[in-house]
Amino acid sequence: MNRWTKARIRELERRLGAFREACRATTLAAVEHATRSPYALLVSCVISLRTKDEVTAVASRRLLALPGVGRKTANLVLGLGFAIPAICVDTHVHRISNRLGLVETSSPHATELALQGVLPRSLWIPINDLLVTFGQNRCHPVSPRCTGCPLDGLCPRIGVTHHR
Ligand code: SF4
Repeated sequence: MNRWTKARIRELERRLGAFREACRATTLAAVEHATRSPYALLVSCVISLRTKDEVTAVASRRLLALPGVGRKTANLVLGLGFAIPAICVDTHVHRISNRLGLVETSSPHATELALQGVLPRSLWIPINDLLVTFGQNRCHPVSPRCTGCPLDGLCPRIGVTHHR
């Protein structure tokens, strides 16, 4: 049974959006905002697959070689670059969606498909930025900062064994 009603999804979006406003923009969001270029976004996303956000920011300005493009990258570029609804599922989106109980999945691809059935299409593009920001600043992979979490009351903390 999925207890994520439309009203709860709207409340989740509102709280994540408020949290997002208080945080530094992710590198990919900054690239999209600064360039409005799908190509620059694509290159930055490929770089980010194997680097930390800070490194991506530097490397994106240098435009390195362009290796293969996977599903995550393709969806990000479809969404941010061309405004075509697609859910970009990276490690943050996969982890937090499962902790919240939005989905119950074991792979990013399965998470993408499950989220398509849970989230309104209006959230397919922004959910990546919202959850990446949230994952980088609050809901960390190890020992998330649950005390005082803005999603308190919405999050069942599924699979969380250690937290602060
Ligand atoms: S309560 Fe903890 S597990 Fe849930 S979203 Fe917040 S930080 Fe993450």
